Amino acid sequence: MNKTIKITLLTLLAVVLLFVSGIGYMMFNVKMALKDMNTRETGAVNETITALKDKFCNVYLVKGETGYIAIDSGKDPAALENEMKKVAVDPASVHTLFLTHADSDHAGGRTLFAKAQVFIPQAEEAVMNGDVARKFFLKVKADIPHTPVADGEIMTIDGVKVQCITIPGHTAGSSVYIINDEYLFCGDNFSINRNNELALFPDIFNADSKLQAESLQKIADLKGLKLILSPHYGTTENVDGLKVFKNIKEKVL
Ligand SMILES: [Zn+2]
Repeated sequence: MNKTIKITLLTLLAVVLLFVSGIGYMMFNVKMALKDMNTRETGAVNETITALKDKFCNVYLVKGETGYIAIDSGKDPAALENEMKKVAVDPASVHTLFLTHADSDHAGGRTLFAKAQVFIPQAEEAVMNGDVARKFFLKVKADIPHTPVADGEIMTIDGVKVQCITIPGHTAGSSVYIINDEYLFCGDNFSINRNNELALFPDIFNADSKLQAESLQKIADLKGLKLILSPHYGTTENVDGLKVFKNIKEKVL
């Protein structure tokens, strides 16, 4: 065999092997991260909040004066509809949907709430229209009719106070919502481990974990919270655990 062909074939083989082992490593990381997730079963969290389990993502319903506000919508509208039957809530009574970000496991079920007004963090619009990559060079186009909600914006809907705080990192516009100053719906902005401690969200799913660490300092000093509600890690009363994000920047950088 010609020496040049031999070298070319060996180089090609090395590239293919590198690519395959890179994919394998990523898949292993995804598998491990998914194993650590821990969603709640469908049912009441308390008298105001109900959890719905859509595969590996929780959707939360907050009771207003006349209907419900949903935080995220899961992936699958049909699965979500089934879960809503279990708690006897009519999807038509969900008049408002706040999405923490536009990933499909949070936004995919939104069609079940056909008449709801959909709020999406303003900074997420750059991800949805492809101006900002979701991760590496990968772009996600999501055409979701919505009303943008700004970082720091506070509104009252159906007697429920909602504040949005944007935590860029998981995605460019990924945000948390604080309801009635007590409940922190944390989206994919941090994780809760099996020891009930708070930590960064798994790096494999983040667009930029360093940015997430920096952004989380915005909520490290929140006061007066009673409960943290996560889409993938259930709920915790460990609101003091947010303090870990005060110094996490140094640990990560
Ligand atoms: Zn997610």
